[in-house]
Parts: sequence; C-alpha cells; structure tokens
Amino acid sequence: MPRVRFAPSPTGYLHIGSARTFIFNWLYARRHDGAMILRIDDTDVERNTQTSLDSIFDGLKWLGLGWDEQYRQSERIALHQETAWKIFAAGMAYRDFTPAHQGEEERGEEAGKAAWLFNREMREMSAEESERRAAAGEPFVLRFKVPRDEGRQVKFHDAVYGPQAKSVNDIEDFALLRSTGMPTYHMASCADDIDLKITQIIRGQDHLSNTFKHILIFDALGAGLPEFAHLPLLVAPDGAKLSKRKHGPVVSVMTYEAAGFLAHGYVNFLCLLGWSPKNDREQMSREELVAAFSFEGINRSNAVVNFSEANPIDPKAAWLNGQHLRTMPVEEVVPLVKAWLERVGLGMPYTKEELPAVVDLLRQRFTTLNDFATLSRAYFTDDYETIPGAMEKLNAAGAREGLRELGARLEATAEFTEASVEAELRKVAEESGLKAGVLINGSRAALTGQTVGPSAFAVFTALGRKRVIERLKKV
Ligand code: GLU
Repeated sequence: MPRVRFAPSPTGYLHIGSARTFIFNWLYARRHDGAMILRIDDTDVERNTQTSLDSIFDGLKWLGLGWDEQYRQSERIALHQETAWKIFAAGMAYRDFTPAHQGEEERGEEAGKAAWLFNREMREMSAEESERRAAAGEPFVLRFKVPRDEGRQVKFHDAVYGPQAKSVNDIEDFALLRSTGMPTYHMASCADDIDLKITQIIRGQDHLSNTFKHILIFDALGAGLPEFAHLPLLVAPDGAKLSKRKHGPVVSVMTYEAAGFLAHGYVNFLCLLGWSPKNDREQMSREELVAAFSFEGINRSNAVVNFSEANPIDPKAAWLNGQHLRTMPVEEVVPLVKAWLERVGLGMPYTKEELPAVVDLLRQRFTTLNDFATLSRAYFTDDYETIPGAMEKLNAAGAREGLRELGARLEATAEFTEASVEAELRKVAEESGLKAGVLINGSRAALTGQTVGPSAFAVFTALGRKRVIERLKKV
C-alpha cells in the first residue's frame, strides 16, 4: 500500500506551493488507496513558531481533504539521532571538529555548496582520536562520508523530471547532526521517510538536488529507495519564483479563503498548476481529479500563477470557482452561503425551506461566496446601496412614479407570482405611457440597488411581496 507524506516546516503561513504539494500527495494516496501522512518538520526551533503552525493547520483544514496519520519531527529526534549514529557505526559518517564548518552548518545546508567538499584531516581522523576529542567535550558536526570513488555518480529516476545523475565530486560531506546534536533536515527527513515506510516522495522541484544526498543516506542504511516525483515551481507572471516577501497575499492560501472561494474551487485551480488530465478538462470534481491523477500528467516547466498588484486572485481560479459554485448541488452551497453571510454580519430573512431556491437563483452569475454579500446584499438586508448605474435607471423619466404605482397595485393583487407581477407591471407601463423596460430596469434598481442579477420578475418573488412593496413605495 502506497504511503506518501506532506512535510511542511512551520516557518510561515501555508504557501500556495505547499498547498499544491499537499494536494498532489493526497490525490496520489487516494488514487492508489494509500495513506496520506502529515509530517510537521519542526526541528528548527529557532525558525518555527506556533502561529505559523496554527496557520498551516488553518489552511489545511480549509482545503478540507484531510489526512490519515500525523507526526511531528520534534517528537522523533531520538530516532533521527539514533539513525545518524547507525550511519557512523557503519563507517559512513565522521565527526568534524572544524569550527569553521560548524558555523557553515548553522548558516544553512546549502551554504558554500560544491565549493567545499570535505576536510581530509577530519574525514581521515583515527577512531581513537575522534572518540577522545568527543569525550573531552569538543563540539563537532557529524558528517556523511560521501563515497569518493573516482567517477562515481549518484543516480535516480524522477517520475517527473526523468533520469538524474550527479557526480560525488559535486556533493559535499553534508551534515547529519549539527554541533548542538540536532538533526539536519536531510537526516531527519530520511530517517522519518524510512521509519514511516514512505513509498513515494512528492515534493517541490527545489528539493530535486537534495535527493542525491538522500539517496546516499538511504543506501548507507540499506533502505530501499522510495519513488521520487518533484513538482514544477510556481512562478509569478514575470517568471520570478513566488515568494512570501515579494508577492504577499497571492502566496497565502488564506487570501483565497478570505475572498470567499470554495475550498474545492481552489483545489481544482491548484491541481492545474503543473498538472493536466491531458484532455482539456478543467472543471473537475474531487472524484474526477482522483481518478485522473498521475505523475505522467505533471509538466516539467514552471507553472505561472496569474495575478497583479491590484488583484491577488488568478482569473482562472475565479472562473473555476464560479463554475463550481453554479454547478455543485445546491444543498452543499446553502450552508456555505449561510456561514458566509453570518461571517460578514448579514442577517437571514429566509427560512430553511426558502433559502435553497434563492441561493440557486442568485448563484447563476456569481464567482465567490462573497458575491452573495455584495452583489445580492439586498436579498439579505434592507441596508443596501444603489450603485450609480442603478440610480440612472431610477432617474429615467416617469420611472419613480410608475414604480410607486406598481407598489400600490401589488399590495392589492390576490396573487404574487412572476406572471402576476409581470402582468401588473405591463399594465402600469401601458397606463402611464412608459416602456415596460423602464419599469423592469427601474424595479431591479429599486429592489436590489444593482443593474444586473436574476431575471427581472424572479427578483420580485425572491424578495417576497412585503419587501417589494416597501421598497417600491418609498422609491
Ligand atoms: N520540510 C521540508 C520543506 O518544507 C520538506 C521537504 C520534503 O518534502 O522533503 O520543504
């Protein structure tokens, strides 16, 4: 049974690229009846924060896909250390007492990459001297002893990027344990991937080059290799790598949540960043995505997220979200709309029985849940504004008088249906020498403050007689 993992480091909010990595892992797990594992990579105590951890969970919970098992690396440090010492015992690691290299490790894994390969004195130190200096309390970094055989290459086949190879002459003796005794990312990640029996490692392309080191660790421990699949980078329209600092809101999953996106609309959008089902399909249900997902559909080229300074929402995301909002079962939309209106402080004038039809009517032109609170605000409160275009319709010659008259008539009719309202409106228009269009447009303006929306007479019945009469009479 396949086992995949998503391994975020809690150093910021849930990044759009991390969300996509999570989703691709999830799709793979579901497609192959496997297990989806959430592993929090929180061994870097200096950079991790609780706020970040909370916001990652908020983001993941909003996506709503769930996971099967959950681990925190900070609770597994003993295993990472034990594994590092196993590599040492097998003669594949050594203590490096050089202060300079200890400093380098603290600056980051990739610092000084390739320029520095190893320190011969440290690498070839006798076991006795190494033990003696350690026993005397001298600090050291535990380094992997990269095999230095002439011409040797570390090779693997990436499920997305194809065959990969790197000469051992380009791989430095990387650290497994820092001078503090804490595991590095490479050590912790590999120890966990082996212990948790991960079968597919699906992660960002920025980790492709780390994989060579990971393979050396797997081999040193005699562990079978998982399959690797690296995902193309997400970039800004100008080709720059998406960064939290530079691109702000677009990078945060919660920007889309706050804009009123459906979780699934966003999930569908993320799936199409670097993957396609190869049949031009775009709008897909969760089940369809699971059924169609494969590594073959993942592209190697960077995936562009479109946004501008003024609008962090990718137009394609908006379009897809609208498609889902309009076509998903109305009973699934209703609770989301209710929650959204509550969140923005709007009341609920409809009963449980009435609401689904109203939501169904309104959603036909909407893109996000927030449209219910803005474009159709008048359906949920009397406190709404009339946009300038609607004001023009009200100001048309004879419109206000005609609308007030219509209000009075509707108070007196026995029936209040789309057909009866239409008949009444046409009668008033005829009697007052107005075009029906003047009253049709005027009533939409008066009743909703907008110039577009559901078909004119549906607006009346959706609002109900009482509110229609009130609004028309005081026009
Ligand atoms: N914690 C690492 C990251 O956030 C995980 C990388 C991996 O999947 O191995 O990038």
